[in-house]
This record gives sequence, C-alpha cells and structure tokens, in this order.
Amino acid sequence: MEEYNLNEALGNAKSFRQKIEEKSGVKLSDCYQCGKCAAGCPVAFAMDYTPRQIIRLLQVGLFEEALQAKSVWLCAACETCYARCPHGVGIPKIMEAVRIEADKKGIKPEKTLDLFTNLFLQSVEKYGRVHEMGMMVRYNILSLKPFQDATSAPKLFFTGKISPLPHKIKDNGAVKKIFENVRAKGGNV
Ligand code: SF4
Ligand code: SF4
Repeated sequence: MEEYNLNEALGNAKSFRQKIEEKSGVKLSDCYQCGKCAAGCPVAFAMDYTPRQIIRLLQVGLFEEALQAKSVWLCAACETCYARCPHGVGIPKIMEAVRIEADKKGIKPEKTLDLFTNLFLQSVEKYGRVHEMGMMVRYNILSLKPFQDATSAPKLFFTGKISPLPHKIKDNGAVKKIFENVRAKGGNV
C-alpha cells in the first residue's frame, strides 16, 4: 500500500492555495464568510456551491471539490459579489483562477453550459434581470434533465429566492440597447 506522506500533502495544499492567491491577487483569509456575496449573485440559484462556499472550500483545503464545482464555470464575472463584499474580496478573480486550474487539469464544464449562458442572456434581455425559475425550467427541459434540482426548488421558492412570475425592471430599454450595441459590434448574444 502506498504510504501517506503528510508533509507532501501539506506542501501540495500550500502550493495550490498560493497559486490561487497569486493568480487572483486575493488573500483567501480576507473572507470572513458573511455570505453577502452569495445573496447578491444572479446565478447562485444554479450553482452547486455559492461564491461564499467556493471560498470556504479553498480556505479549508478542499481543492478537488472547488476544481470540480460547476459554479466556477457559471460565474458571469458580473462583480456584484465584489461590490457587495464588506471586505473587498475579489471573488470573480478567484473564480477565474480556479477555472484556469480546472482547465489545466482537463476538468471540463458541462456540455450544456452554452445553453445555460444563452438562456440567462435571453432572460436578462427580456426582463432587465434574470427570471430564475423560468430560466431553470427551460434549461432543464432543453438539456433533457427535466428533474434536475427538483428537490432544491421548493426550498428556494419558500425562502423567496425564486418566484414563478418574472419581475421586469421599470425601464429595460437601456438593457435592450446594450444587447443591440453588442450585436451591432458582432457580439454573439
Ligand atoms: S461577502 Fe466577502 S467576506 Fe462575505 S462571504 Fe462573501 S467574500 Fe466573504
Ligand atoms: S461575479 Fe460571479 S460569483 Fe460574483 S456575483 Fe457575479 S456571477 Fe456571482
């Protein structure tokens, strides 16, 4: 049986943590787990680990779990979490650093990630913000996984995190204009 080498394991953990901190420019210990980031993240409803939990995984050395998380691929780099964080923790940079490391290790995102991105953008263009429940229903049907997340839906519903009806912002003309501008410049949205 292969002998477990504690020093080697600690060394590997330290170097991975250092790598993430160097690449992101963020000190993981700066996060004190208040959860404000997760509360504001527009895609947290679809993540397997919230932004706060991704940092926790890294803080406690559960790197494999962080590398396998679909959250790092779902992050839209919108910086809402960064703006809300009382300690200025740059989560989008951490997500990016973990994504790069996952990519290097050949850990690929789900094939349906493009579908998720397109449905997310369609929802934002239509309502000025994402309608989580409508988007997830469409995503599950189109990705042929109709019962995915079915067990977490009631909890999200009763805690007010998702709503059956979309909330349209007052004037989403400005949002539509952004989409038009991006298309005019050849963007694929
Ligand atoms: S808001 Fe900042 S301090 Fe609070 S959990 Fe998120 S990253 Fe950590
Ligand atoms: S940058 Fe990523 S993790 Fe942060 S709020 Fe936006 S989507 Fe969520």
